[in-house]
Amino acid sequence: MISINGILEQKAFTREDIITLLGLKGDNQQLLINKARKLTNDRIGNKVYFRGLIEYSNICVKNCFYCGIRKENREQHRYTMRDDEVLACARFAYKYDYGSIVIQTGERNDKDFVDKIEFLIKEIKNQSDNKLGITLSLGEQSYETYKRWFEAGAHRYLLRIETSNRDLYQRYHPSNEEHSFDKRIEALNMIKQAGYQLGTGVMIGLPGQSIEDLADDILFLKGFDVDMVGMGPYIEHEHTPMYLDPDLTLTKEERFDLSLNMIATLRLVMPDINMAATTAMQAIDPAGREKAIMAGANIVMPNLTPVKYRESYMLYEGKPCLDEDASKCTSCLIMRIKSTGSEVALGEWGDSMHFLNSQISDS
Ligand code: SAM
Ligand code: SF4
Repeated sequence: MISINGILEQKAFTREDIITLLGLKGDNQQLLINKARKLTNDRIGNKVYFRGLIEYSNICVKNCFYCGIRKENREQHRYTMRDDEVLACARFAYKYDYGSIVIQTGERNDKDFVDKIEFLIKEIKNQSDNKLGITLSLGEQSYETYKRWFEAGAHRYLLRIETSNRDLYQRYHPSNEEHSFDKRIEALNMIKQAGYQLGTGVMIGLPGQSIEDLADDILFLKGFDVDMVGMGPYIEHEHTPMYLDPDLTLTKEERFDLSLNMIATLRLVMPDINMAATTAMQAIDPAGREKAIMAGANIVMPNLTPVKYRESYMLYEGKPCLDEDASKCTSCLIMRIKSTGSEVALGEWGDSMHFLNSQISDS
């Protein structure tokens, strides 16, 4: 039988190899993590880039079974930030040299919303002299909408596939046209076609999800040739249909560990993509983001949402930093990232090397 070190030295990985890597624990897991970090440094460098996160609104027309801000959670107070609040967050990101922001919301497709996002993108670009990069995470939209927002100045888009297993996808979503797996795949294709750097990802440790499913997720991300990945543990929320699902077999700590293995293994499979150290990792372990960086992540998304809205953007229980003011967080975060041996890249967009490489090979 081939040793773990033998697998780690390979340049290409079979499904069986990936399943083996995802199951590693103890010293063998550490070997995987060390290898992934070294490969990150060798291929894309040891810089960590910031994306200041603006959770613009928690109004959502959808009903994903796992999500705390799903439309039918009537317990949830709803909000939308005022324009001046959004622009102040973007100014903060610019002033503190974050390089980029992410605008994230529940999903809406109505004209007022589409127009408003276009307006905000243009204003943010204007007020930052075109210097602030803008990533969007606004769900499934029409091609025209993706294109409009791209032309307004956004250049990266995050839309998670959530799970690449069609049956599981249906299990975690209502069975209707608005929540169809095919529509999600079509949306990912449209995002690419509109010109964005494409980011997607999955939740890890979902009820009924196996290691084999996660290995297939990694192969899906590779096959889809994505530029960026954000993935992290699934965490329960009391007011969702998936709460207390008997098929949720992994503890939060096990989901966290599996997430580290997913990040490290994906780094071996796709060495030049951007990968986020997600908030859900930090929700389970206060040092979760740093541990994700040590395993090969290179993006951190500090939360810039005004504190008064944070409690209302509660996707899952235990979401961190509910009362931390962004201005107090920055220097502390920089110190924490430096403690991992990484450098904080200020004032840079930090575009996906995978995307930039593909542009060179296409031209
Ligand atoms: N509405 C947009 C969408 O769905 O793409 C963007 C916002 S949505 C809240 C962002 C991500 O939150 C989803 O893609 C999902 O993976 C994650 N999320 C939602 N509920 C979660 C939960 N209970 N545990 C972990 N992640 C969750
Ligand atoms: Fe809405 Fe996104 Fe939550 Fe689904 S995951 S309910 S689309 S906010």
